[in-house]
Amino acid sequence: MAKTRKPKASKYGIAPKQPGETLAEYYARYARELHQLDPDRMVHWRNKYPEKGAEYHKNMREQRQARVAAGLCTTAGCNVNSLPGQQRCEHCWYITMARTHLGSSSANNVQFLKDLMESQGYKCYYTNITIKPGIASVEHKMPKARYPELKYERSNLVWAHRAINFDKLDRTEDEFIAVCKLVVACADSKAVAVAKLMTEERV
Ligand SMILES: [Zn+2]
Repeated sequence: MAKTRKPKASKYGIAPKQPGETLAEYYARYARELHQLDPDRMVHWRNKYPEKGAEYHKNMREQRQARVAAGLCTTAGCNVNSLPGQQRCEHCWYITMARTHLGSSSANNVQFLKDLMESQGYKCYYTNITIKPGIASVEHKMPKARYPELKYERSNLVWAHRAINFDKLDRTEDEFIAVCKLVVACADSKAVAVAKLMTEERV
């Protein structure tokens, strides 16, 4: 017979996870209530013991500097060579991108970004400029500023050159292409006008 365990309050007297409460909400409430019970408890030991904290920071800083000098990834515990001009290895860079653009650095999300890069043949989605891990950027075809519900939607994500992503701002894919067409048409018409002027002068 399966045992059923009734959730009980923690030793601090904080109520267990309530029905309808998500795990994240429960953890947040737990931390909040624990802090109210004992404010000192939640102070990190590095701040509680300043001398020890200073030494800890110094060690960490030195370790980091040594890793940078050796051309290694600065992520703690990762001893892979970093990307050129970067302080992270390729894998750790993908992890950061997944955390930023997919909401978590799960192996599944990291693999998705790697596969997406592969499927685009390491080319910018809009310009075909060659891009590479370390300097590419995740682009939202429908801008996340205007379509927050599509922020983590995988079908909305593509890899683009950083500069192109910057130029696109919060335009949709179609709006961005329309603006580019305007610029090209204007440049072309000016070129025609100049060519015409030059021929007229010569006549
Ligand atoms: Zn790394």
